[in-house]
Amino acid sequence: MSAAILGGMPIVSRLRVGIEASIADLVARGGSPPSLTSLLVGHNPPAEAYRAAIERSFQRLGIVHRARALPARTSRDELVAELRQLNGARDVTGVLVLMPLPPHLHADLILENLSPLKDVDGITPTNAGRLHLGLPSLRPSTPQGGLEVLDHYNIPLEGKTAVVVGRSNVVGRPLATMLTQRHATVTLCHRRTRDLASHTRRADLVAMATGVPGLLRADMINPTATVLDFGISVVQGKLVGDVDFATVSQAAAAVTPVPGGIGPVTTLVLARNTIAAGYAALSGDLDHVDLAVHHLEAPY
Ligand code: NAP
Repeated sequence: MSAAILGGMPIVSRLRVGIEASIADLVARGGSPPSLTSLLVGHNPPAEAYRAAIERSFQRLGIVHRARALPARTSRDELVAELRQLNGARDVTGVLVLMPLPPHLHADLILENLSPLKDVDGITPTNAGRLHLGLPSLRPSTPQGGLEVLDHYNIPLEGKTAVVVGRSNVVGRPLATMLTQRHATVTLCHRRTRDLASHTRRADLVAMATGVPGLLRADMINPTATVLDFGISVVQGKLVGDVDFATVSQAAAAVTPVPGGIGPVTTLVLARNTIAAGYAALSGDLDHVDLAVHHLEAPY
């Protein structure tokens, strides 16, 4: 049996229309045209590739993207000063700090010093806490991108068994929360999970977010499973996911490809989050950020 391939491009087109309507609504309510500043400290080819994808996608949407680059030797104090400057800048709607940071800079510096109102990837304690409490918040774009894919292809979640592999604060952990909120029964796996296959084999939905190429093999899933692949790695110059695509695409019911699956959807969700931050700037709180989604509620 061949799996249905859940490509991201049809979703990109649909999100683009809603985003354009949201920008118009934000400006009509007195908000500033949204802009994103991405901050990269040092050099990292995957982060630079993600930044280039953001640039292309935002340019097409008419959202300003400013790429800010700091040298790898940037000190803790200099990074904090940069974040405070961006927090206070009226022409900056959202801030995305590209990971990884150089080893001497801990990600906690970002969590603790970025304004929650500009935190477009939902990493600050305020946004992460509000997500877990079910309050309006700026939510991490990658797991939201995965949900967009599931919704687009009408894959039901209520009452389903979901296994998320990977528990980072930007992908696996928030995804597990979002799936629970959509009434799936969720198991969150990680490096110390014993017998990973025993968990994935009983899942209706397997979501891979580890960065380990080919970790999920065909013998680890059941034939009715939907597989979401968030992984992005470069192997011998080729972009690959966490799924052994050649075999899993013959064994699962449906699977997202890498590239061309969740990745392109994520940059559009990031654009939507930048508009959500525009609503946050307008009201001075996070209570109205969901207005940015309002224009996207066209039925599938
Ligand atoms: P991360 O912070 O490195 O976290 C990786 C997670 O995977 C950890 O929780 C780790 O477990 C778990 N893990 C690693 N090896 C494992 C194994 N053999 N068995 C079970 N669990 C294992 O990575 P991340 O930032 O979440 O990113 C994950 C992947 O998604 C990467 O490939 C990244 O490039 C990609 N990504 C994609 C997008 C997108 O737009 N599609 C966006 C962001 C990231 P422990 O917690 O026990 O260490």
